[in-house]
Amino acid sequence: MTMRCMQLDRLGEPLRLRERHVPQPGNGELMLAVSACGVCRTDLHVVDGDLTHSKPPIVPGHEIVGRVAAVGQGVSGFRMGERVGVPWLGATCGVCPYCREDAENLCNAPVFTGYTRDGGFATHTIADARYCFPLGEDGNDAEIAPWLCAGLIGWRSYRMAGDGRALGLYGFGAAAHILAQVARWQGRRVFAFTRKSDTAAQDFARSLGVEWAGGSDEMPPEPLDAAIIFAPVGALVPAALKAVRKGGRVICGGIHMSDIPSFPYALLWEERQLRSVANLTREDAREFLQFAPQAGVRCEVTRYPLEQANEALADLREGRLQGAAVLVP
Ligand SMILES: [Zn+2]
Ligand SMILES: [Zn+2]
Repeated sequence: MTMRCMQLDRLGEPLRLRERHVPQPGNGELMLAVSACGVCRTDLHVVDGDLTHSKPPIVPGHEIVGRVAAVGQGVSGFRMGERVGVPWLGATCGVCPYCREDAENLCNAPVFTGYTRDGGFATHTIADARYCFPLGEDGNDAEIAPWLCAGLIGWRSYRMAGDGRALGLYGFGAAAHILAQVARWQGRRVFAFTRKSDTAAQDFARSLGVEWAGGSDEMPPEPLDAAIIFAPVGALVPAALKAVRKGGRVICGGIHMSDIPSFPYALLWEERQLRSVANLTREDAREFLQFAPQAGVRCEVTRYPLEQANEALADLREGRLQGAAVLVP
């Protein structure tokens, strides 16, 4: 039996359609038939070589919804045909100081789906069963796929932003459109910052209950309690620090950002905090996957056939879609 995948052969080049034998799951692994795989900004960074461990050939994709098609030795708790999700965190060592202290997101020897092991831009994939999550049967595969990264890492960022009522979101893509719904459901006020003059994104944000939407060069109508930056633009760090109140928090939710320009200490002064979010823990995943259906989080998705992965990446890069791009094999 063969499978199809969209493979990165060389950094910076388009993905190419490849056919391979369907791999068999090893010890502790599941083989999944992929139903849908979201396209994340991190996939762009992998393809572009912005991340230091990009070692092609690799199949990107880490927002995988699939069905168990084969169960490896030593795996329990999963049945054939069960719908599961696979996130960015593909495996951890379990023994390093970070793993031992409930910070497996910072593991010294991690495996990342679609980055250091083949991911979900494919008809089939292999995953470590300990890092797969049962998804139940509610909801559409493609509409759930963005939960696996935009949702989970968004959730971790959201938790780090604290309990403040006024939340700013810089970059209104997949993660922000999920968090806006989460925050509204919790009765918080949301302020969205988009590319300058991107009125389509601003209208989209307002349609999700965002109270104010403007360009990232604008100041919000009042100081914010916290801001989360998803756009990979370093200049947004001083902009967001300027927009938060004394003691406010700025969280950088992306894996890569252009250089941060120097800024006056006064922007950080008065106990403002600046922090990055790296990866996710399985606990983040369990929490969010339980919370999202309760909050009625619905993803706006644009579907692409697997073979159009390059078009999906290009549309994401150019900001030509609202919500999330999802590949459906
Ligand atoms: Zn570890
Ligand atoms: Zn991602």
